[in-house]
Amino acid sequence: MALIEVSSPHAAPAAPTRHVLRILLRSPMGAIGAAMLLVGVVFAVAAPLIAPYDPYETVHVTIDDIYQQPSAAHLLGTDDAGKDVLSGLIYGARVSLLVGFSAAFIALLIGGVVGIVAGYRGGRIGSALMRITDFFLVIPDLALQIVIVAIAGQSLTNIILVIGALGWTTTARLVRSQTLSVRERKFVLRARAIGAGDWHILRRHILPQVLPLMLANMVLVISLAILAESTLAFIGLGDPTVISWGQMLNFAFGRGAVSAGAWWALLTPGLAIVWVVLGTTLLGTTLEEVLNPRLKRHHLEKDRSMAIPPRSAAEVALAAPARDPDGPILQVRDLAIEFESPGGPLRAVDGVSFDLRRGETIGLVGESGSGKTTAMLGMMRLLAPGGRLVGGQVFLDGEDLMTLPDAELRAVRWSRISVVFQGAMNALNPVRTVGDQVAEAIRVHEPEVGADGARVRAEDLLERVGIGRQRFDDHAHAYSGGMRQRAMIALALACRPDVIVADEPTTALDVMVQAQIMELLASLGREMGMGTILVTHDLGVVASSCDRVLVMYGGRIAEEGPTSRLFSDPQHPYAQLLLASFPDLAAPDRELRGIPGTPPRLDAMPPGCSFAPRCPAAFDRCRVERPGEYPVGEGRRAACFLLDPQGANRG
Ligand code: SF4
Repeated sequence: MALIEVSSPHAAPAAPTRHVLRILLRSPMGAIGAAMLLVGVVFAVAAPLIAPYDPYETVHVTIDDIYQQPSAAHLLGTDDAGKDVLSGLIYGARVSLLVGFSAAFIALLIGGVVGIVAGYRGGRIGSALMRITDFFLVIPDLALQIVIVAIAGQSLTNIILVIGALGWTTTARLVRSQTLSVRERKFVLRARAIGAGDWHILRRHILPQVLPLMLANMVLVISLAILAESTLAFIGLGDPTVISWGQMLNFAFGRGAVSAGAWWALLTPGLAIVWVVLGTTLLGTTLEEVLNPRLKRHHLEKDRSMAIPPRSAAEVALAAPARDPDGPILQVRDLAIEFESPGGPLRAVDGVSFDLRRGETIGLVGESGSGKTTAMLGMMRLLAPGGRLVGGQVFLDGEDLMTLPDAELRAVRWSRISVVFQGAMNALNPVRTVGDQVAEAIRVHEPEVGADGARVRAEDLLERVGIGRQRFDDHAHAYSGGMRQRAMIALALACRPDVIVADEPTTALDVMVQAQIMELLASLGREMGMGTILVTHDLGVVASSCDRVLVMYGGRIAEEGPTSRLFSDPQHPYAQLLLASFPDLAAPDRELRGIPGTPPRLDAMPPGCSFAPRCPAAFDRCRVERPGEYPVGEGRRAACFLLDPQGANRG
């Protein structure tokens, strides 16, 4: 089948400068703020060229020189020392902006590091960093600045350091919340799943998402730093060797400008401070409002699941199956997962076991909330927050993933077991090219390949999945839905894994594209000898592409069997109702039946068989006792008392 798709008409992402310009053009307030700040910057940079007099030049002062009114010779009059106020104002911009930018940079550095570490690491480290931040937040900045500058000395360097070192708290809180939001996005989960380390994830995935907001916040911190410097200078704690606006105010107030009626000596530096602070505030607020991505939270998260405590070597030796080249590549045994809740732990996956062979495709089906995705993520120790593995083993070619140290598990993820995530748009980082993300997995696991080699292989993969190597440098939003899903498949194949977990890989795609994607997955799986687990609601997709089916309900396997036999003769009442609720093209006249009721909530799981409240065949025993798994033919099993070979024992 020809795999031809048309990309979406979205334009390529704008360059950052163009993006900022577009924001400013769209927001008059932002544009006004930028223009006001620009005036200040031009004054500061071009001061020696545009200032009519040297403000540092010592003048011979007579009574006629001081507090001269504005005139053609002195457009803004003169001050108490007979110096030109306009020249002081222009040179003062240098000091105010130097302090503002430098202190804001220091605050950005400290606040950025604290916020990113607190948000990314979370837990005790995150809480401790936030407590420290809160402590600094409640300390009155100005009082501390006055004390430190008075003790350390009134140099410009000290003023910059003090303002910067005390002005990082809001940045830290903002960056932390943004990092918390970004780290929960699916592309970060994908990066973890490919085995990328923390530093790599921070540098390549978190920072690019957080940095724009940090820079917008920095503009706001500049205004606060300028205000702080002006305040210090006004109360006489400025650097006496330089001219700043605060200092001009200090001189004017202290040396009789009020009694002399020299309003120009007071008003002009005051207005200059207001001008720049207002400009930076307008600009910073606009940038922050627009650049804050308000990233959506996703229920999938990075690896917070605890590995099951390691067993002794003797236990492992007893439990681990012998490696068999012809045996299953993946063996899951009694997998159990719980989530923390205020009312105690809730069991989401309960005793799930199955085998997967090379070249085989298993369909994992069931209604939403049956535990399908949780079981798969738990298998890779990539659980949602609060999720915990509480039992079971997962052997990948004889190696138990549950007890593998984190570093070794990272090496296994993606190189040996990879995931095609649901919702490819969320799983691809929007600010990086798709090709680079495919190459990223190769670079992480096979650094010896090198950047060029990884690119060539990634281009080959894009070609292989029908996208074409020429789309390597496009971003995800320039791909159509089908192409993004193909890109996810290319990504999953990047390191030639033994097992692929495809979680709803065709959701939201039209039927034709669904068929293409499934055919692609199946053919590549057979060709590369991979085992594939297809997690889906779509029984039609399972019927056409899976060798075996696992029907899940209430966190357990309700029934397992070869696809054709299970579909033609389901044994478990839930499997029967599930299949009866799905249209059958071979029997278009068959009446569709819905399953009565809704799946059980985790916090209201029935004590006996979890399907009992909805099961038309339920009897007393079902409500108090949990059924075991009983064989129902070759390669088949089902968890229902009705299938107990010892008899249903309805009594
Ligand atoms: S054990 Fe009972 S309630 Fe559960 S599926 Fe079988 S008959 Fe229905």
